[in-house]
Amino acid sequence: MIDCVFCKIIAGKLEGEFVYQDDEIVAFRDINPQAPVHILIVPRKHISSLNDVKPEDVPLIGKLAIVAQKIAKEFGVAETGYRLIWNTGENAGQWIYHVHIHLLGGRRMTWPPG
Ligand code: 5GP
Ligand code: ZN
Repeated sequence: MIDCVFCKIIAGKLEGEFVYQDDEIVAFRDINPQAPVHILIVPRKHISSLNDVKPEDVPLIGKLAIVAQKIAKEFGVAETGYRLIWNTGENAGQWIYHVHIHLLGGRRMTWPPG
């Protein structure tokens, strides 16, 4: 947790402008955007990955989806479409071990994902 990049951003110790924040969740632009809209939605609580989510985290985890819905509207992709990605573990390409959802939109996406 000490060296967690997202904990540092949440604590204001690293560059990062929040596009959304409340007492439980923050959202900020990905440093290496993969679409015109690429926002990371992150709980303030440090949970390493979806594998570590506990039953008591259910309300917090559910709220991530509501925040995603709000951000999609705000960034004008609610109607055109957007994708939420939750990378978990090595094969999925999880790089930062602090739970987060990627919100991608503003371009046509392919399926299946790479
Ligand atoms: P993951 O691969 O773990 O699902 O996604 C981590 C994401 O965090 C990557 O898309 C990466 O570009 C982004 N990222 C890594 N470090 C930083 C940072 O310091 N600031 C911001 N805004 N994004 C970061
Ligand atoms: Zn963290």
